[in-house]
Amino acid sequence: MDYAFLLDWGKNHLLTIVAVVTTLVLLYHYVIERDKAVKLSKKYRNSIFEAQSRIFLNATQYLIEGNKDLAIKEFLNAVDLNRETIDTYFALGGLFRSNGEIEKAISIHRSLIARESISESTRLLALKELALDFDKGGFIDKAIETYKDVLKINRDQQDVIHSLCRIYEDIEDWDQAYNYRIMLSKVGQENQSETISHILVQKAKALFDKGQFKACAEELEDAFRFAPSVSAKILRLRLFLVLGKMEDANGLLLELLKEHPMYATFIFVSLDQFNPKLQQAEQYKERLHQLKDYFLGINDVDLMNSPSVVLSKIRLLKDLKKTGDAFHLLDDWMKNQGQSDVLKIEYIKILIEIGKSEEALSHTKTLLNNLHSSLTRHYCSQCGYNSDEIFWRCPQCHSWETIQFRWKV
Ligand SMILES: [Zn+2]
Repeated sequence: MDYAFLLDWGKNHLLTIVAVVTTLVLLYHYVIERDKAVKLSKKYRNSIFEAQSRIFLNATQYLIEGNKDLAIKEFLNAVDLNRETIDTYFALGGLFRSNGEIEKAISIHRSLIARESISESTRLLALKELALDFDKGGFIDKAIETYKDVLKINRDQQDVIHSLCRIYEDIEDWDQAYNYRIMLSKVGQENQSETISHILVQKAKALFDKGQFKACAEELEDAFRFAPSVSAKILRLRLFLVLGKMEDANGLLLELLKEHPMYATFIFVSLDQFNPKLQQAEQYKERLHQLKDYFLGINDVDLMNSPSVVLSKIRLLKDLKKTGDAFHLLDDWMKNQGQSDVLKIEYIKILIEIGKSEEALSHTKTLLNNLHSSLTRHYCSQCGYNSDEIFWRCPQCHSWETIQFRWKV
C-alpha cells in the first residue's frame, strides 16, 4: 500500500525530513513574526533568527559528519526556541516512532502533555500519540492504560477502541475483548456481531478445555445469539460429544459439512482436540469414533464433490488402516473429478503404499508439471498470511474466519 511505502521512505530519509520540516517551521515563524513587528523589537527578532540559523547549521554539520544523535538534539533545541511549534513536535514524534526510535517519540509526546500552555484537544492528541508509541514499542500494559486515559477524556474515539480490541484479542483476554467490541459496536457503523460471536466462542473454548462444560454451553448460547459462526457450531458439536447426544452430533456435523464443505478438514482436526487430563477424555474419544464412522458412511453426491470432504475421509480411513478403502475412494475421485493437487498427492502416496510404483511415478510426473501448491498448510484469503496452525482469527490482518487450506508438499 502507498502508506507503507511512505513509511518506508520516511524511515530512510528521517533526517532529511526533519531538516526540511524544521527549516520550513523556522521560515514560517520568521515571516509571521516579521508581520507582527509591533510585538517584538527588530533586534530581538533578529537574534532569535540568528540563533535558529546557527542551530540549523550545526545540525546540518552533524548530519554531514554522520552524527545522527547530535543532529537530532540540535533540531530539538531549535524547536524549543519557539513555544508554538506544536505541529513540529507531532511531526517529529511520529517520525521517531515510524523509525523505531520509540524512546525518543515517547519523550517528545510526554513533554507535550506536560506543557501547561496547550489546549485540551492538543493534549488529547498527544496522549493518543503516546499510546501509539507504547503500542508500537510493545509496552502492552502502558499502551492499554494510555488508550484508556484517552477514552476517559473522550469516549467517542473509534480508532482507540479498535486498538484496545486488537490488543485484548492478541493477549487473549476475551472478557475485555468482548467489552470493547460491544463499545465499538455502539460507537461505530460497522456490524460487530460476527466478531463478538467469535470472541464468545473463544471464551467458551477456554471453559471447555478446563472441563467446565455447563459454563461453556452458556457462553456458547450467547455466541449464537450474535451470529452462528463456524467455530461456534464446531464447539457445539464437541459439546454434544461430551454430553453423549449422538443424534444431535450427527445432525450438526451433516449441517456443518453441507454449509461449509471446505471446512471439513478443520472440523476433524478441531474435534480431535480434547484435554487428555479430563476424566471425560476416554468417553469423548469413543463417541468421536462413532461420529467418524457416521461420517464415513455419508454418501451424499454434493458432499463428495468437495476435495476437503474427500480428503477428510481419506485421512480417517488411513488412520483406521483401511488403505484399500481409501484407495478405492481416491481412485473414483481421480476418474471422475481429479482437479485437486491435494488429492493427487494423497493418491500417489497410496499407490506407493499398495505397491503400484509405476502408476505412482507416472502420476507424479503429471503432477509435478502442474503443481501450484506451496509450503504451508493454511493461508488467509484476506491477506495471504501463511501458517501450519489453524487460525480462526488471522494473526496478520486480524480478520476472522478467512482461513483456507492447501497441501504441504
Ligand atoms: Zn489475514
